[in-house]
Amino acid sequence: MAEEGTPTIHLLDPAEAVKIAAGEGVERPASVVKELVENSLDAGATRIRVDVSSDEHRITRITVTDDGTGMNRADARLAFLPHATSKIRALADLDETISLGFRGEALASIASVARVTLVTRCRGGGCGAATRVVAAGGEILGVEDAGAPPGTSVTVEDLFYNTPPRQKFLKSLQTEMAQLAGALEALAISHPRVVFQLLHNGRERLATRQGPDLLEAIRAVYGDDAAGDLIPLLAERPAIRAEGYISTPFFPRKTPSRVLISINGRPVFSRQILRAIRKGYGTLLPSHTYPAAFLDLRIDPSRVDVNVHPTKRHVRVGEEHEILSIIEEAVRESLRKEDLTPRVPERGAGISREATVSPVPGAVPGIPAVTAPARTPTLESARLTDRRLRQTELPTGIPGGESRVPELEVIGQIAGTYILARTPGDDLILIDQHAAHERVLYDQVTVRRDGRKVSQELLVPVILRESPREAAVLREITVPLGERGFAVEEFGRDTFLVRAIPSVLGRLGDPLDIHDLLGDIISGDADTPEETGERISRSIACKGAIKAGTPCTPEQCRRLVAQLRLTESPWTCPHGRPTMVSFSRSALDALFKRT
Ligand code: ADP
Ligand code: MG
Repeated sequence: MAEEGTPTIHLLDPAEAVKIAAGEGVERPASVVKELVENSLDAGATRIRVDVSSDEHRITRITVTDDGTGMNRADARLAFLPHATSKIRALADLDETISLGFRGEALASIASVARVTLVTRCRGGGCGAATRVVAAGGEILGVEDAGAPPGTSVTVEDLFYNTPPRQKFLKSLQTEMAQLAGALEALAISHPRVVFQLLHNGRERLATRQGPDLLEAIRAVYGDDAAGDLIPLLAERPAIRAEGYISTPFFPRKTPSRVLISINGRPVFSRQILRAIRKGYGTLLPSHTYPAAFLDLRIDPSRVDVNVHPTKRHVRVGEEHEILSIIEEAVRESLRKEDLTPRVPERGAGISREATVSPVPGAVPGIPAVTAPARTPTLESARLTDRRLRQTELPTGIPGGESRVPELEVIGQIAGTYILARTPGDDLILIDQHAAHERVLYDQVTVRRDGRKVSQELLVPVILRESPREAAVLREITVPLGERGFAVEEFGRDTFLVRAIPSVLGRLGDPLDIHDLLGDIISGDADTPEETGERISRSIACKGAIKAGTPCTPEQCRRLVAQLRLTESPWTCPHGRPTMVSFSRSALDALFKRT
C-alpha cells in the first residue's frame, strides 16, 4: 500500500474559522464601535453612549450603552452564536436583510477576538432581571443575573488578545481614536433623531442633541461654520429619494472626508456616488477637491448590494446609471437655487480667516503719504481691452430666467484687477475681472452654442508643426475642437493648418497666441471625450479673457458685470475660483466696530 504522506492541508475547527471571518468585520476599534452602535440602532435606541478607555498607547476598553429593546436571557445567550440574528425571519427576508448588512455574526466575531461583557434587559412586564453574559475567545464563560435598566450595554476589552498579528496592525492611539470618532460621526449624521455621546477617558468628545433636524446633528459634529455653509437638497423620484445638505463650493476640501452618504439609514461609501456629486457641481468646484455632502438616500433594498468592509460599507446600486444621474441633477438643482456669492466676513469662514482687513494708514507726521494714482488706460490698451470685451456682447441671456445675482452698480476698479460694485441693498461687491470674463466666455463656448456661429475664419491660416505625440493628441481631439470653433486640418506629416478659431477669442490673430492655446490644450493627458471637451472650453475662456492688471474704463466694467450676471454660474470661473466676494452692510459696520 502506498504511503500517503503527511498532509499539509489542515481543516480549521469552527472556532478558528470564526476568528478568521472576524477579520472581515472586526479589524480595529472603529469597526467594533460601528457594529455595536448599528445593533443599538436596530434595537430602536434613542440614546447611544460610547465610552472609550485607553492608556497612553492603545484603546483598552469600549462600552456601548443603549436604551433600545434589550434582550431576554435566551436571546442574550443566542446573540453570541455565529449566524445568530433576529433580523431574518423567513427566507423571503434574506435578500433584503443581507443587503442591509445583517449577517448575524458581529457579536460572535467580536467575542472570538476579545473579551465581551453583555448586560441587557428587555422592556415591559415579564422581563425580569437583567442578564450579564461574559464571553471570550469565542466561548461563553458565564451567564448571571445583573441589575440594569432596560436596554443593552456591551463592553469589549482585550481586543485581539488572541490574535497578536492583528494587534500589530493597529495604528497609533490617535489614529485609532480618529477612526472611531469618524465612524460614530457618520452614524450620528445618518440618524439625527438619536442622541449620540462619545467619551474618551471620561471626557466628552461628541454630543448630539435630540432633534429631527439633520442640520442640528451636522452642527454638533462639525460646528456652526460648516453648518452655515450648507444648502438643502431634496429629490423625490420613483427610483430614489435623496435628502440632505451639500456645501457651497467655496471651501472645498482635498479629501472627501465630509461626504457622508447613507443608504436606507446605513452609512456607505461609494465612489460612483461621490463622482455624481462632484459632477453636479460642474465648474463650481476646483479639480481634485471635494465639497461637503450629507445625504440620506432611500432606495429599494433589493436594488442595493452591500459589501461589508471593516470601516466602510462599499455599495453597488442596481440601475446605477439612473440613480447616479438623479443625484447629480439634484446637486445641480440645489446649487442653482442659491445666491452663491461668498460673504465676507460673516459667512465665509475660510475667507475671513485669510483676508486681513487693516485700517487705512493715515498721514503719519514726517512720512509723506504715498498715493497711487488711479490707473487710466492708455488709448492703445483701451482699444485692446475693448476688442477682447466686445466678445462679451455676443448674445447671452439666461434661458427663461432672471439672474440670481442682484443688479450691480459699478463704482470703479482697483489695481486694474478688481471691479467694485454695489447692490441695491448696499452690499459691496468685489469682482475679479479676469475670472468674471473667463466665466462669460466659458458660457459662450459651452452653453449657448446652438444655432450661433461659433467660429471665425482666419485671414491667414496658422501652421502648426507638432511632435508625433502632440500630433496624435491633436488628431484625436479635432472633433471637440471643431465643436468649439477651431477648424484644424492635417496638412502633411505632423503638420496642421488652423483655418478658423472660436469667435469668442475675438481678433486673436497672433499665431503665437494660437500656438500657445493649442499647446495648452494638447499638453494634458488624453482623458475621456467629456473631460477633453471641458479642458478645451476652459482653455479658450482663459486665453480669451482680459488679464488681471488691465485698466478698464467704467463703461467696460459695466458691460462685463452685466454679462457676468447673465451667466449660468456667475459665482466662479470655470476653474472654480470665485468671481466675486460680497461685503454686506453689516459686515462693513462690524469692520468699523459700529455695533
Ligand atoms: P446582526 O446584527 O447581523 O443580527 P449581531 O451579531 O450583530 O448580528 O447581533 C445578533 C443579534 O443580537 C441581533 O440580531 C439582535 O437580535 C441581538 N442584539 C445585538 N445587539 C443588540 C442590542 N444592542 N439590543 C438588542 N438586541 C441586540
Ligand atoms: Mg449587527
